[in-house]
Amino acid sequence: MADSTTPSSSLNFTESSHVSNGSSSYGASSYNVSTSTGSETGGNLELLSLSKLSCSLEQLLVDSRFDYSDAEVIVEGISVGVHRCILASRSRVFHELFTQGNGSSGKEGKPKYCMSDLVPYGRVGFEAFNIFLSYLYTGKLKPSPLEVSTCVDALCAHDACRPAIDYAVELMYASAIFQITELVSLFQRRLLNFVEKAFVEDVIPILVVAFHCQLNQLVHHCVQRVARSDLDSISLEKELPYEVADNIKFFRRNQPDDKPNAVPVDPMHEQRIRRIHKALDSDDVELVKLLLTESEITLDDANALHYAAAYCDPKVVTEVLSLGLADINRKNVRGYTVLHVAAMRKEPSVIVSLLNNEVCALETTMDGQSAVRICRRLTRPKDYDAETKPGEESNKDRICIDILERETRRNAMAGATSISSPEMADDLHMKLLYLENRVAFARLYFPLEARLAMGTAHADTTYEFSGLSASKGSCGNLSREVDLNETPTMKNQRLCSRKEALLNTVKMGQRFFPHCSEELDKLMEDDLPDQLYLDKGTPDQKRIKRARFLELKEDVQKAFDKDISELSRSGFLSSSSSSSSRKGGGKYKVRKTLR
Ligand SMILES: [Zn+2]
Repeated sequence: MADSTTPSSSLNFTESSHVSNGSSSYGASSYNVSTSTGSETGGNLELLSLSKLSCSLEQLLVDSRFDYSDAEVIVEGISVGVHRCILASRSRVFHELFTQGNGSSGKEGKPKYCMSDLVPYGRVGFEAFNIFLSYLYTGKLKPSPLEVSTCVDALCAHDACRPAIDYAVELMYASAIFQITELVSLFQRRLLNFVEKAFVEDVIPILVVAFHCQLNQLVHHCVQRVARSDLDSISLEKELPYEVADNIKFFRRNQPDDKPNAVPVDPMHEQRIRRIHKALDSDDVELVKLLLTESEITLDDANALHYAAAYCDPKVVTEVLSLGLADINRKNVRGYTVLHVAAMRKEPSVIVSLLNNEVCALETTMDGQSAVRICRRLTRPKDYDAETKPGEESNKDRICIDILERETRRNAMAGATSISSPEMADDLHMKLLYLENRVAFARLYFPLEARLAMGTAHADTTYEFSGLSASKGSCGNLSREVDLNETPTMKNQRLCSRKEALLNTVKMGQRFFPHCSEELDKLMEDDLPDQLYLDKGTPDQKRIKRARFLELKEDVQKAFDKDISELSRSGFLSSSSSSSSRKGGGKYKVRKTLR
């Protein structure tokens, strides 16, 4: 970001409440370097010495040999050493805090302050606090750390995704609470930039920080934006301070009616819906049942599943699902399914609960976002890449993405079974290519097992799909000549039966060789199908392919050995070679459960 690398230009403040106060050093006047000096050379010298001062002070923060800190601030459980004299000289709030001297005693008797106590509403994370602190010491604003200000959606420009917004919001809280006015106006501009670009859900945290920090211009912009959006009044009431939600409703009422076909609201109906929501809020699914019998209203009328997925305890979601009265794939007025809502909440247990009830993971919102994409756009690289030691709880964001991705793959395969119409031909081809490649990989890596699985699934009696060009198939011995007499219907039938056979092959593999299947899943994800054709390409490419192949083979071999040892322990290999005899055995249902 350009503004973060050119601090001096952005610090010609437009607003400073302390400038006129001669006795205070908290104002902006001390930054007007060039105007306070007489000559050009004097100005340069002063700039140079200020820059040196800035570097020297930075050492206090970044160089562990210069640890002269005399207080600590705990942020996200991590202790950050600070120097009271510097903080007090830079911020009136710190000055007052240290004068009162009410920090609890930390290590070596240094006073200790908790960030969460200093910022009662809102939140300032470790990275944001460090950037803020560094500004206090050096007068320079460092660039945003990517691991907390971007998301893990590869297609995102990160110009208004949630992590980018949250990071700016955190710095705004810090700047406003500690009254660093020039930073407040800088981050107010950044947040204003987000308001029009962001999804309306992501405007909410901006509105909340603007409200708490009394940034009226920002509040006004956010209120306008939310009022124009289709964000429902329940979300407004749940997520915004009372006054703000009211303000938005007021704007909406006074807007010219641009929805002529909007259904007039029946107050009685509204009231019933609210009663159901209240019952859900108090985890009382029995009461929900009672309310349903008392009137014509249905769970779907009340968007009860959406509501529970967004706001209730995960066990309430499970209970509502078990009533079997709600349409699990229903979209609300904004075009979101329950799974989309659960993805926004990033609560793995709700997501699992929904997937267990066969919710469709491929469904997209009106702007084309799938549940997994929603999750990815909300997740920071820091959380996604967080390493967990054995026994440690894994990061929830990461788990949500993993579960949804696995399910998306599974659904993509399941979807292939129902496709028969000619207009879906492209889709059919894509799925066939995927399955063909997957099975070919399996044949390459563990021929015996692949043969067993293909045999059981009767895949060896259908013809290999050789792609649109009919020129590949270097691995298969079942390639078929192009038949000019074949009608489109016959061709469609042939391809469909091939797809069925491959799908069954994959299912067999998943059931009996789950570890291998998982390796194959990974392989299909991170490798182009063409990697399979090791003989293609320049000598260099071939060499790389070969090396990668050997590496993968080792992985797959390990997984395979694990499967074999599990199977022989269970007596499968010695007692029977028929796959159907194991049906219903719980032992191999590994795929459905979470690792
Ligand atoms: Zn992003």
